[in-house]
This record gives sequence, structure tokens and C-alpha cells, in this order.
Amino acid sequence: MIPSPHRPTRIRVDLEAISSNLRQIKNHLSTHPKVYAVVKANAYGHGAVAVAQFLKDQVDGFCVSNLDEALELRKAGILAPILLLGVICPEDVSLARENNCRITVASLAWLQEVLTHYPNLSGLVCHLKVDSGMGRIGMREAREVNQVMSLLEQSGAVVEGIFTHFATADEADKTQYNQQLSCFENLLHQLPYRPLVVHTSNSAASLWHQETAFTAVRLGLALYGLNPSNGNLSLPYPLSVALSLETKLVHVKQLHQNDTVGYGASYQATADEWIATLPIGYADGWLRALQGFQVLLDGQACPIVGRISMDQTTIRLPRAYPLGQQVTLIGKNGDSLITTEQVANYLGTINYEVLCLLSDRIPRYYVCHR
Ligand SMILES: *Cc1c(COP(=O)(O)O)cnc(C)c1O
Repeated sequence: MIPSPHRPTRIRVDLEAISSNLRQIKNHLSTHPKVYAVVKANAYGHGAVAVAQFLKDQVDGFCVSNLDEALELRKAGILAPILLLGVICPEDVSLARENNCRITVASLAWLQEVLTHYPNLSGLVCHLKVDSGMGRIGMREAREVNQVMSLLEQSGAVVEGIFTHFATADEADKTQYNQQLSCFENLLHQLPYRPLVVHTSNSAASLWHQETAFTAVRLGLALYGLNPSNGNLSLPYPLSVALSLETKLVHVKQLHQNDTVGYGASYQATADEWIATLPIGYADGWLRALQGFQVLLDGQACPIVGRISMDQTTIRLPRAYPLGQQVTLIGKNGDSLITTEQVANYLGTINYEVLCLLSDRIPRYYVCHR
């Protein structure tokens, strides 16, 4: 979907907030690890190219989930190290190498397949993925990791890093976290050598397990100022939210008692009511299930009434407001605030998902007051 800049619906991203979150988190880590900014999924909806361009001199590199996300950054002229966190297609390893991307090697079977296509892997920089209990990608046995390491070396590749991922770093109960940590440490001790970059911490581990940062951290959601725990744990120190979602009234009318609004006529006015239309809908990631939720206008909450359609949302105003009146869907408006978490709670999901769903149709604008 192409962006629609001729519509007053926009995402505003405060880049300085991202920088300040980065400084905050770094100051609280007990060691001085490298920091990789995770900018997968269009930097969690914030715009990967703009965020990476802004952060490139403040971080040691970037993590993305797949090769195309890395290529987007390379096309935009980002030269910093990029690590692909996911498993790429074996036949694309050469493309990754040409674009100077570090790849994740998560199994012997995958590497054997790669070697049938490319017996010579010289110039390829690899990070080994260990599954210490997440149960997703990664190797569980030291024997397999050792085999992978020697095969990579024989074929000319460089084993720069080794990493794992925690399943419960955002929970108060540390049992599984500690199990995963000792599993990973045990495995490290069984290797012929320790790769240069050892990394385990995502945002949650960086916030609530500051002591286990190893030599690098992978920061995603916390960089954007949000709490990765879905309300399980409160932030140990404040972060600044970078993103807001705004639009303007494009239509205002008075409806009378029994008039209906939207598909299915699911809302009926009970008296004379001011109903306004917003140019945003489920095609923007403003999901249909948000019917009954609210938006902010003139510092007040206004209910979403009637079904949200693909491109339009209808709200009830306390009185008449002019066309062009500013409306906030996520963020501050006057003294009021709607958080991504409130949207997520209403939808029965987490803040990550709400951000990632905000579609490319919404243009991103960047403010940087430095
Ligand atoms: C997405 C991801 C991260 C970043 O997670 P946050 O919770 O956003 O910090 C780190 N590591 C891996 C492997 C990931 O997939």
C-alpha cells in the first residue's frame, strides 16, 4: 500500500524520544555492551529508514527479521552492520553476503543446504542461534553448534556472534529466565571458543535483567518508549513514547433521534447528536474491533460509534466542532492521553501488535527538536 500524504491522517514520530530512551537504557546496563537497534517490521511502525538513519551513529548496528528489510536499509544508504534475526532461504545467502548482512545460523540442516548451493562462504559473517528454551529457531545441543562452527570455518565464513532469546524476561517469576540463562552459559562452555559478540537481551531483559547483558543487547520496543511486559511489570525508569497517531475531522453533521450510522446500522442516535467522520479505517490498521473505543478531541474523549469501515471512522461529539479540528487516536491531546496499551487492551492484544498493524497508508512525519 502506498502512503496517502494528502489525507490529514498521520503518524508523528519524535526521534529525540528514541535517542533519549537509548541513552537511558545504556546508562542502566551494568556492563557496556554494544547496542543493536531492532528495526524490523518498519521499526515497529515508526518507519525503518528514518529511524535507522537517525540512529546510525548512536548504535553499533541494526537487527531486522528478514533479508528484504535489510535491503531496504542498504538501498537507503545505511552502511552500519545489520543482523538478520530470522532464518533466510539457503539460496539467498549469497545476496545477504553481497549486501554485507550478518546472518543467523539456526541449524545444521539449514547450513548443509546452504553449502550445497555455496560451498565457499568466505566473507559471510554469521551469528549462531541457540534455543535455550524459547522453542522457536535455534540449536539446542552443543554438539550441533560445534559441528556448525567447524563447517562454517572450513567454508571460509566468520563466526562473529552467538545468541539466544528469552521467553519470559518480562515476567516477575524468574524461574524460566534463569533456566534459559544457565542452559545458554553451559552451552557456551562446551564450545572451542567464544565468538566475539554474545547477546541474549531483548528490551525486557535489558530493562529487568540488567546484569545479564553479555557483550551486546538487541533493543526493540523499549527504544520506542513502550513497556514490553503487557502490564506484568512496571518500567524500572521512565521512557518517552515516540509515536502518536493523529487525524482531523473531515465531516460533521447533526443526526436526529433514530438515525443510524455505518454498515449494519449498528448505531442509532438516541437524540439530536453531532456525528463526525475521521479519514482512517481498518485498512490503516485502525481495526474494526475498535468500535466502542474512543478518540480525543479538544482534550475530551469521544466515543467511536457505528462500525469502523475500511477508510472511515465515525465518532460522537459533545457539540459541533469545525472541519479540520485535530483528533488524536494515540497520544496526547490537551490534558488527555490515549496510550498504545489502552488500544491494545481494548483489542485484547499487546502494544507490539497495535504498532505493527499501522499500515503503510499512513504517512510518517518526524520531529527532532535537538
Ligand atoms: C524482535 C526481537 C528482538 C527485540 O524485541 P523487543 O522485545 O522489541 O526488544 C530481539 N531479539 C529477537 C531475536 C527478536 O526477534
